[in-house]
Amino acid sequence: MKQYLLALDQGTTSSRCIIFDTDGKICSSVQREFAQLFPHDGWVEHDATEIWASQMGVAVEAMLQMGIGAEEIAAIGITNQRETTVIWEKSTGKPIYRAIVWQCRRTAQDCDALRSQGMEEEIRSRTGLLIDPYFSATKLRWILDHVEGAQARAERGELLFGTIDTWLIYCLTGGKVHATDPSNASRTMLFNIHTMQWDQELLKLFRIPEGMLPQVRPSSGDFGVTSARLFGKEIPICGVAGDQQAALFGQCGFARGDVKNTYGTGGFMLMNTGNTPVRSSQGLLSSVGWQIGKDVSYVLEGSVFVCGAVIQWLRDGLGLIKSAAESESLAASVPSSAGVYLVPAFVGLGAPYWDAYARGGIQGLTRATTRAHIVRAALESMAYQTADVLAAMQSDTDATPPALHVDGGASANNLLLQFQSDILGIPLLRPACVESTAWGAASLAGLGAGVFSSPEELRQRWQIEKRFLPARSTKEREALLAGWHRAVERSRRWAEEG
Ligand code: ADP
Repeated sequence: MKQYLLALDQGTTSSRCIIFDTDGKICSSVQREFAQLFPHDGWVEHDATEIWASQMGVAVEAMLQMGIGAEEIAAIGITNQRETTVIWEKSTGKPIYRAIVWQCRRTAQDCDALRSQGMEEEIRSRTGLLIDPYFSATKLRWILDHVEGAQARAERGELLFGTIDTWLIYCLTGGKVHATDPSNASRTMLFNIHTMQWDQELLKLFRIPEGMLPQVRPSSGDFGVTSARLFGKEIPICGVAGDQQAALFGQCGFARGDVKNTYGTGGFMLMNTGNTPVRSSQGLLSSVGWQIGKDVSYVLEGSVFVCGAVIQWLRDGLGLIKSAAESESLAASVPSSAGVYLVPAFVGLGAPYWDAYARGGIQGLTRATTRAHIVRAALESMAYQTADVLAAMQSDTDATPPALHVDGGASANNLLLQFQSDILGIPLLRPACVESTAWGAASLAGLGAGVFSSPEELRQRWQIEKRFLPARSTKEREALLAGWHRAVERSRRWAEEG
């Protein structure tokens, strides 16, 4: 009877539910967008109640589409936008403020202040993170400071904090379970990734009463059961992981040195660093990948701000293409970008450059340049930026990964992936199931519920749809990368000049 795994994939712009069978086949998939709220310049909020309602809505709809009931679902897995911060009343379950989204920059000055107090090293060594408004701690502090009476109420034990996973678990269990997993906890800037506990010093620094924090449980296991009134019967919640970590798990990146890259709006690379966190000297972040039983896997993470978004810009900003997919045929109409490089530093550059003042540029134009060359250069920029992040990871870990696992919307582009393999000089693996994130949550749940006996069983079931093999000489590869680095150099520090 219990043959399905239900994944709740709570993203930044939409809530999705995918129901998988135990072979990882997608049986139904429903998605609903929700409101993005921008109350001030640089502020981003979500309505936590709307997130819950949309997530519940898509779950019910996905079950209805298949005509199945709760008794046919073995377990629920949750994966979510990370760092986004919610505080609610313990007695009513009502949020006291909107969810402050990871993208929100409102606490930038608070982060500057922490840096000028010399806290960078302290925070880095405990949490694996750089001080940034991105992470939950300063957002949590902001709500306690700006909602009247919130600090006193938190100290009296009347308020609860959660990232989106915790909020959904709380809602699903009818308020019975207040819990998170270490992949999410490690993005709050309050969690000690060495002791695997909330860090007492950081709680003191941010004046956060420990009672409002969720219990941290292994990513695969017991997160309670859904309230019977939601789906007619109780369903166990057995897997939880933040979106990027779930994607690495869904790609079977279980071994030290396994690495995946997601080509979405931005680009996100995660490398499994095994049972110890790696301290980066390249501006990468260390987080917990997942915990299964007592076994903890750590990851190194590097992100590229503008990845697939450069293709959106070609379409919507320049009108050079009509659809994202057209970028492939247009780029393929020329044998190379003919020396043109496009650096999409629209909002500065992330890892490994960390240059907030970099701006975009196109270099190497001649009278012979056509729109096809520019489109090709844009696609290649996605691959070059990814290569820079992988090089940073290799230098931090001394590991050369045997292959790069890929997913995300733009991984549909064969020309991009072939070029990526060419300049990395390693194979790329595109899985049959491109929904790695949702599958990661579903498979953590399946392991937790005993549907799968071990990660090894998952690996055996995992299928590659297409393999891309490097087809260029080292000399050619190095010449292309050298050109890219010259172009990047010209984009750096642009906004602070003149
Ligand atoms: P996200 O989850 O970050 O919103 P997706 O994983 O859905 O993003 O990927 C969407 C991104 O991929 C968009 O930025 C789009 O421009 C890009 N994209 C989609 N299809 C292609 C394609 N065939 N070639 C290149 N880029 C593409």
